[in-house]
Amino acid sequence: MSTPYTYAAATPGDHYLDGNALAGLLSQFLPGDPTLHECRCPACGSTEPLARALVYLNCPGTVIRCCHCTAVILQLTTTPTATYLTFPAHTTLRLPPDR
Ligand SMILES: [Zn+2]
Repeated sequence: MSTPYTYAAATPGDHYLDGNALAGLLSQFLPGDPTLHECRCPACGSTEPLARALVYLNCPGTVIRCCHCTAVILQLTTTPTATYLTFPAHTTLRLPPDR
């Protein structure tokens, strides 16, 4: 599937950060710099580094959305007893081999 050249448009009510905000949040789960790992969107099939994702912090937990279609690609929720990393069906996260 080809990568579309459009990006999600922000509306005045949107309050999100770019995927670089994920560096600290995901560093405990993913090796290296987690923002460099490529993620394939389950909705539109675009593949981008997590640094390009839209990160919504003002949700129940953290919601990470595709920069092309705004579909949810990852959710991170921390409770008093555990942290949950949820991938919607068909989301693919590419981890490079160890160097
Ligand atoms: Zn998408």
